[in-house]
Amino acid sequence: MKVLKFGGTSVGSSKNINNVINILENYSKTGPLACVVSAVGGITDKLLLAGKQAQNKDQQFLETFQLIKDKHFSIIQELNPVNNQEILGYVERQLEALKSLLEGIYLINELSPKTSDKLVSYGELLSSFLIAETIKNRGLSADRKNAQELVVTNSNFTKAEVDYQITNKNIQDYFSSAKQTITILPGFIARSKSGEQTTLGRGGSDFTAAIIAAALKVDQLEIWTDVSGMYTTNPKLVKQAYPIEKISYQEAMELSHFGAKVLYPPTVQPVLNLNIPIHIKNTLAPNEAGTVISNEDSDANGPVKGISNINNIALLTLEGSGMVGIPGFSKRLFETLSQEKINVIMITQASSEHSICLGIEEKDAENAKVAIDAIFENEIALNKIEPLIVETGLSMIALVGDNMKNHQGISGKMFSSLGKNNVNVRAIAQGASEKNITAVITESDVKKALNTLHEQFFESKTKQLNVFITGVGNVGERLVEQIKQQKKYLKDNLKIKLRVIGLSNSRKMIFGEHGLDLSNWKEQLESGETASLQGFFEKAKALNLRNSIFVDVTANKNVADLYAQYLRESIAIVACNKIACSSDYENYKLLKRLSLKYNAPFLFETNVGAGLPVIDTLRNLVASGDKIKSIQAVLSGSLNFVFNNFNDTTKFYDIVKQAGAEGYTEPDPRIDLSGVDVARKILILARESGVKINLEDIENTSFLSEAGLKSDSVDDFYNTLIADEAHYQKLYASAKSNHCQLKYVAKFEDGKASVSLQEIPEGHPFYNLEGSDNIVMFYTERYPTNPMIIKGAGAGADVTASGLFADIIRLGND
Ligand code: ADP
Ligand code: ASP
Ligand code: MG
Repeated sequence: MKVLKFGGTSVGSSKNINNVINILENYSKTGPLACVVSAVGGITDKLLLAGKQAQNKDQQFLETFQLIKDKHFSIIQELNPVNNQEILGYVERQLEALKSLLEGIYLINELSPKTSDKLVSYGELLSSFLIAETIKNRGLSADRKNAQELVVTNSNFTKAEVDYQITNKNIQDYFSSAKQTITILPGFIARSKSGEQTTLGRGGSDFTAAIIAAALKVDQLEIWTDVSGMYTTNPKLVKQAYPIEKISYQEAMELSHFGAKVLYPPTVQPVLNLNIPIHIKNTLAPNEAGTVISNEDSDANGPVKGISNINNIALLTLEGSGMVGIPGFSKRLFETLSQEKINVIMITQASSEHSICLGIEEKDAENAKVAIDAIFENEIALNKIEPLIVETGLSMIALVGDNMKNHQGISGKMFSSLGKNNVNVRAIAQGASEKNITAVITESDVKKALNTLHEQFFESKTKQLNVFITGVGNVGERLVEQIKQQKKYLKDNLKIKLRVIGLSNSRKMIFGEHGLDLSNWKEQLESGETASLQGFFEKAKALNLRNSIFVDVTANKNVADLYAQYLRESIAIVACNKIACSSDYENYKLLKRLSLKYNAPFLFETNVGAGLPVIDTLRNLVASGDKIKSIQAVLSGSLNFVFNNFNDTTKFYDIVKQAGAEGYTEPDPRIDLSGVDVARKILILARESGVKINLEDIENTSFLSEAGLKSDSVDDFYNTLIADEAHYQKLYASAKSNHCQLKYVAKFEDGKASVSLQEIPEGHPFYNLEGSDNIVMFYTERYPTNPMIIKGAGAGADVTASGLFADIIRLGND
């Protein structure tokens, strides 16, 4: 004899029921089968909804009833297009009785637990009947046995306890004389000793199957469901979750107790002592291996076997200095909860005994508050303890594994990875047996927490980065293209899974929770929603993905003003926009502090020298204990371009125009030519060296003509360049007569910074700087005379994009 159980989805449509029948037909070739079935998927919920509606005098219960009826009728007709009169007749009569029951509830305005059990029983009664009759119609030897005649319980309605003595005997007696090969039994439903209909608790069909398997001492119990086994974590919330091949009874119990719905927690009890393995299989993919639950130990996946979660949790905290001295405190507390039938899922107690924290289901929170405050009324009045504190909107997540106790540092890893992703942990409990570590967190963080922990314990080899890019102009576009091109390489070689989740330009924005398809991102963006900086932020926040990174490829102050908001959500920032780092010192410092506090890196390597590793090198020098003595640098690709091309055969105006056309200057060339852009860069380097300095502290000797300095528009500025050609030619002539090259130089020394155009003599490292190259020389305690020099292309869309890309990858290697 084999015992199989098919869940709601498995019997949720005619197509799936056909799958079930095929499986049964195959299995029946080797011997008799006991097959437990759930109600048709979703029907139990609908029955309860109809009951609630009727109780609330809401006429809609009739519509809900009609949906239930239609669902059953269509399944029956699809499965049995002919010869269906008898089945439909029986089902019609059952449904009439159900309707009368609902009308009764409507009339008396009341739905007791006892009536509720009677009501939901129709789900399994109908499904088991229609499946058994369909199988018979197919010519197989089958019959339906109502489990209410076998499984006997107490009268604890909605979650009754089984009387095994009577139940086992009933089951054994029945099957010893059953003639049919396939016996279909309704799961979940039972009967009390006094004959009332009871149920075993939501999800209880698994339990019915286990009771039958144990009573008949079969070799194996199979639970057929809609997923291919018990997964490392809930597959609906974590895409990377995968089925666990083997798991112990204890681990399976622990995982299901903490929310892995795939198995109803009490299911393990009846089969545990008899060593009957439970095999979880997928009706929709019968060839997949599934999960075997047994007492065999398996450590194949490491010490953590799975991660589960329970939502709708409330945390109760009772605290007060007088708690220590109150006689029988815990006894009174737990007795009160037990009297109220409140199930305590988790307990933590501070070692000082000044407070105790309990996790319960949110629906019980109000009752708990009233009952506990009442029982400790005197102590509260005497200020010995505080009224009960109730927090709601919480969830529990638990790491489970029999062998966790033998491994060091698992909880450390768990909490540090949650912390890094800004998941606030409200309470922690670790079972004495260390088979489980539980944390209470905000419900809206569950998905992120599960994904983070899953990555940490089951995919430690790949790290997912979720990128939100704003600004897809010249540089941004190259960045997206580079990401597109390198995606596979990063995954294969660096174990980084880089996903672009959001893209925005000034007009439109698009999002893809599972990563945008970058093959035609431009077209997608064109038909995206209207862009808004705040909207982009809100979306990134709402998605609440782990390792989120906001990439600012604009030069826009309004974007820079949002960094603090992003950091506060633990979203890292990668920016080529210089505005934030060169803004007021207090703001720069605030961003640095937020970055530390919220574990959200703030990287801006491209602010100086585009893709050249200038800031990273500086940080490494400082971090390794070196002291910066001075920095001398040529940091403007635009000014280099201008002065490398300007001579006595060209016109200054033409060269500046050309630089603009080739993308070497900002749209407003004054930002480059006035030296402001270079001043910002040396400011950032000075700050990164540890100096408190502001933009106005930087000495800026301009080479522009007076009219150029005073111009109040871009056009006006260009006109001054034409008019003041002689002024610029004079600069060139002077340099030439001194055998020098003109370079725009930034300096930082003794806490002071300056920028100015200088005549550089032959032999100086700056003399031969070509094109738009940048050069930075760091004089430090370790490099006092021969500076550390970084030189190379310091402007251009491609190198800037690759600098941004390098910052993003740096986050992946964290
Ligand atoms: P059935 O109706 O077959 O009894 P359930 O809905 O009760 O099915 O249980 C299966 C569901 O359990 C899956 O569809 C999945 O959403 C959920 N689930 C939660 N945690 C896990 C887990 N760790 N492994 C597998 N499934 C899980
Ligand atoms: N039909 C019941 C429920 O939905 C029992 C089960 O499916 O296991 O809870
Ligand atoms: Mg179930």
